[in-house]
Amino acid sequence: MISQTPLQIFEFFNRLVYIKRDDLLHPLFSGNKARKFASLLKQELKSKTLISYGGNQSNALQSLALLSLLKDCNLIYFTTPFSKALLQESEGNFAYALKSGVVEFRETPHPQEESQKYALQNPQALFIPQGGSVELAMEGMRELSEELRKQTGDLKSPIFFYSSGIGTASLTLAQFDLEVYTALGAGKLEDLLQRFSHYPKSPKVLESEFHLPFGKPHTKVWEMYEYWMGQGVEFDLLYDCLLWIKIKENLARFEDREIVFIHSGGLMGNITQEKRYRLKNLC
Ligand SMILES: *Cc1c(COP(=O)(O)O)cnc(C)c1O
Repeated sequence: MISQTPLQIFEFFNRLVYIKRDDLLHPLFSGNKARKFASLLKQELKSKTLISYGGNQSNALQSLALLSLLKDCNLIYFTTPFSKALLQESEGNFAYALKSGVVEFRETPHPQEESQKYALQNPQALFIPQGGSVELAMEGMRELSEELRKQTGDLKSPIFFYSSGIGTASLTLAQFDLEVYTALGAGKLEDLLQRFSHYPKSPKVLESEFHLPFGKPHTKVWEMYEYWMGQGVEFDLLYDCLLWIKIKENLARFEDREIVFIHSGGLMGNITQEKRYRLKNLC
C-alpha cells in the first residue's frame, strides 16, 4: 500500500515550491499517520489487540481503525467522553472508526493514564502512544527520507517542511540527515523544544507571530486552505495550513533555498473541521 509518492512543483506567492504528495498514498491511509504507522503494516498482527489513546476525532484514530481492519486485529481506544453532536456525525474520523466495527472505545477523562494502566495489565497487547512514537515511526520515515533524497537530488540546498502536533513525525524525519523545518501546531513551544532536545538531531522550529489554540477556526487558516484549493491541492486545516501561514511569513529568509513541503495528509478530518468553520460563518 505504501508506494512512492510524486514530488510536484507549484507556485506559492511568487515562489516556486515543491510538494511531496503524501496525500496521494491512499485515500484512507495517507500522510503523517501512514508514514508513522508504516512499520505496523509489515507486522503480523492477526488477532492481536492494539491499545492507544488520543482525541476522539483524530487522524490517528481513523488510521489505526483502518490498520486494524486490514490486519485483522482490534483496537481499544481511550478517549474523552463523547458529546451528543459527536455521536451524530455521519462522516469524518470518528464516524469512520465507529463504523469500522474494530474499535472498542473507552471513554474517560484521563485517556493517557487509563490506557497506560490498561497496557500494563495486558502485556500481550501492543501499546501505541498518542499518535505513535519515534521508535515506531523510524521505518516509515527512513523510507520517506530515501524517497526525498532521490527526488530532490538535483535541487539546490533543499529544506524540508513537515508540520507538527506533538512533533513525532518531523523529529523522526530529522534523524535521517535532512534539514527539517517545522512549526508549533499544538501545545506549547517549550514542550516541543524539550521533546526535540532528547534526540541527537532535531528539526528547526519556525518562529511566528501567529498562534492559535489547537483546532480553533481562524480566517487566516481558511484563506490559506482556499489558496491551495485554488491550486488544486487540499491541505488539512489543523496542521498543514498553519505551517503554510508560517512559511509565508518567513519566505524572505529562504530566498536561496528550495522549499520542499511534505503533505501530511489527514484530509478526512477536514469534513468535521469544515463544519466548525461553517457554524462560525468563517467560510
Ligand atoms: C497527526 C498529524 C500531524 C501531527 O503529527 P505529529 O507527529 O504529532 O507532530 C500533522 N498533520 C497531520 C495531518 C496529522 O494527522
